[in-house]
Amino acid sequence: MTVGIPRTEAVVDLAAVAGNVATMKAGTTAEVMAVVKADGYGHGLVPSARAAIAGGATWLGTAIVAEALALRAAGVTVPLLAWLWTPGEADTVERAVAADVDLSVSSTWQLAAVREAATATGRTARVHLKIDTGLSRNGAAASDWPELVTAVAKAQAEGSVEAVGVWSHFAYADEPGHPTIARQLDVFADALAAAARAGVEPQLRHIANSAATLTLPAAHFDLVRPGIAVYGLPPVAGDFGLVPAMTLRAAAASVKRVAAGEGVSYGHEYVTPRETTLVLVPLGYADGVPRHASRVGPVWVNGERFRIAGRVCMDQIVVDVGELAVAPGDEVVLFGPGARGEPTAQDWADAIDTIHYEIVTRVGPRVTRTYV
Ligand code: PLP
Repeated sequence: MTVGIPRTEAVVDLAAVAGNVATMKAGTTAEVMAVVKADGYGHGLVPSARAAIAGGATWLGTAIVAEALALRAAGVTVPLLAWLWTPGEADTVERAVAADVDLSVSSTWQLAAVREAATATGRTARVHLKIDTGLSRNGAAASDWPELVTAVAKAQAEGSVEAVGVWSHFAYADEPGHPTIARQLDVFADALAAAARAGVEPQLRHIANSAATLTLPAAHFDLVRPGIAVYGLPPVAGDFGLVPAMTLRAAAASVKRVAAGEGVSYGHEYVTPRETTLVLVPLGYADGVPRHASRVGPVWVNGERFRIAGRVCMDQIVVDVGELAVAPGDEVVLFGPGARGEPTAQDWADAIDTIHYEIVTRVGPRVTRTYV
């Protein structure tokens, strides 16, 4: 029996991660903050972070504070920004300030929390003030901005806080030329001017995600914050020289011949149209294979592409490979860079009407990450 490849495996090409960061760094004079939130978009937090630094990232960004603290615990020393935290996280905020993790501040309650953390730790809290320029997600509403920057200027004068950055996030960066982009840049400029009037002049202004990093140099300011492109997945159509870093694969768990007319998987949504070979693959929705991919998810077996037969189960899927010769243990690839003809994360996204971000970040903790 073939036993060559692990049961399930996400193979992560760290040279690709480093190369993707280097490619983006070559296209800008801004500093690069590699976004490694959500376990490095599913690729592994610390290995992705180290590879991004090797490629030239001088900052790392996470959504949650715990991920930034995990980077510090792993010995990562570059500046870190964590941007999404709640009132119940006072302890975490204190640990972040103690560990020199920069925190995003969008409101006066957040400012009060970081000031308390500064007092408790005897340190200055480093903050990036977030202005909502039109995404209506995180960030101070434009109407609340003057009050926030005035309060920050006061805290800065007292020494409890240092306003390192002013930042925002686009709603339509993946649609270059969309009028909302220019409108958000106008609001950002107004916010910077208002901050300066209040006496807050940060070293770092930043608003560009991957799409803006790749397509909108006017939005680079002092630092760019690419995420998805770090992992080689382009956020907009085009050849940017990025290399997808993850291959999701598994070993065929069983192979059997069945007669025509056999129902396959729960609900028998697929019925074998002829005598055929069914291959069992030990990856299911608990591993991040979306259940929506039932019947449509592309799978590559021994050089040929197929679709999942019937429903995705919690731990497994079935593939009807017809007359193809397959043995237990043979490699089954769900997605990869595409160089061998295997489907890509984009193919998966297209098949189930989602985005490749969701495909890679969903890959679950039961899947072994192997770094090459
Ligand atoms: N900045 C912020 C605030 C984000 O939430 C994200 C991800 O959603 C990024 C940057 C990176 O975005 P992308 O992965 O599109 O480059």
